[in-house]
Amino acid sequence: MRRTKIVATIGPASDSETTLEALLKAGVNVFRFNFSHGSADDHRHRVDCIRNLARKHDMCVALLGDLQGPKIRIGKFKSNSITLVPGTPITLDPSLKDNEGDDSHIGVDYKPLPQYVKPGDILLLDDGRIRLRVEKVHDNKVLCHSECSGELFPRKGINRLGGGLFAPALTEKDRGDIKLAAELELDYVAVSFPGSADDIETARQLLREAGSDAAVIGKIERAEAVADDQQLDSIINACDGVMVARGDLGVEIGDAQLIAVQKHIIHRARQLNRAVITATQMMESMIHSPVPTRAEVFDVANAVLDGTDAVMLSAETANGKYPVDTVLAMARTCEGAEQYPALRRIDLSLDRPFKTTEEAIATSAMYAANHLEGVKAIVSLTETGKTALWMSRLNSNLPIFALSRREDTCNRVSLYRGVTAIPFSMTGDVTTRAIEALQERGLLQEGDTIVMTRGDKLRVDGNTNVLKILRV
Ligand code: PGA
Ligand code: MN
Repeated sequence: MRRTKIVATIGPASDSETTLEALLKAGVNVFRFNFSHGSADDHRHRVDCIRNLARKHDMCVALLGDLQGPKIRIGKFKSNSITLVPGTPITLDPSLKDNEGDDSHIGVDYKPLPQYVKPGDILLLDDGRIRLRVEKVHDNKVLCHSECSGELFPRKGINRLGGGLFAPALTEKDRGDIKLAAELELDYVAVSFPGSADDIETARQLLREAGSDAAVIGKIERAEAVADDQQLDSIINACDGVMVARGDLGVEIGDAQLIAVQKHIIHRARQLNRAVITATQMMESMIHSPVPTRAEVFDVANAVLDGTDAVMLSAETANGKYPVDTVLAMARTCEGAEQYPALRRIDLSLDRPFKTTEEAIATSAMYAANHLEGVKAIVSLTETGKTALWMSRLNSNLPIFALSRREDTCNRVSLYRGVTAIPFSMTGDVTTRAIEALQERGLLQEGDTIVMTRGDKLRVDGNTNVLKILRV
């Protein structure tokens, strides 16, 4: 059973019912809607379709809306794409109308750009694939030379090497999209380019005002967010989960720095009891190719070894030629990486004080399960999924079954590493019924030992206070 979860971004290549169904069956745990692209109606249609399919197949999936944030993008072109060669002069012009870009003149959706750049700056387009050197700023236009060759597609992002180009994290569009996320009852909302914990708090407050209970994911993608450990910790603490948003972060701090930073963010997120997604260009070549490169396989595997909850696909599933094959390849890769013995060893810091009963019960359950011979699974009867989150912060090779009567909880825990959500009505003799439900699904056999956690009072938040060891 795969422990690492897969996040797949939905776009034109994957939003037909047939493809969505195939993606669900191939193992997608979280569907991501990128609010940078597509209309509200596109997203509405996709959300309805996925929810219906999940119900039809009795599967739990989480839906994540990703806010655009103050990302600066180039405009559209008269043609599908343009081709750059080293030395090509190219002008970035915020006053150019959309659809008017050509080989030498392209629009930008950020009016003040010319104020923030100076000659000698390096501007990186499309996650750093295209490098432009600023030669001159004149007449509210930025005159550059291309430093590389390549094909450039419309609406790609622009970053400055070293960071520092961004405005406050929540734009007017984001505020509208937060209302859309509430209307669509999304399980997670990702905040792009947060510079501090305040940006996360604002997003959370706006979500609550709009009537959404969504968990908030902070995308770590600004040089400022990882400048020191305190800043990073305060952002992580403000979130329910974080994303190692390697596209923008890698461009701002450089790929060489990103290696250690990825490991550090994943480690801190787990220590602070937060979920973590590793994102961007994980299987990039599969946009065009039916098989991944070995380097991509090892990149995904590395994130698994680092302890990430989930690995994410962007253009691979949104615009690629092989969305379903990519998910299958990613699933195989995760399973392969999870065979590594070091991942199966428990790492408990026994000297850490517990702050809550849930944490004490969850940690004790993992300790017992990992050390008692014959234990086949951990079963958590949960209202909010908090116990399951604590459990999944600890290494184990045992499955954690989170049984909940709440659909939102089942969806939310679908992101957590090693956790399988099972919808379950908390009535009657729940202990016996829980075991029967798992047996019916073929997840437990007679004679198996399990570790179970629950609350004495059912249907109450934050009430997990019982740990039982049972034989099926
Ligand atoms: P994006 O975020 O795909 O919305 O840019 C992820 C990243 O920057 O890696
Ligand atoms: Mn980004």
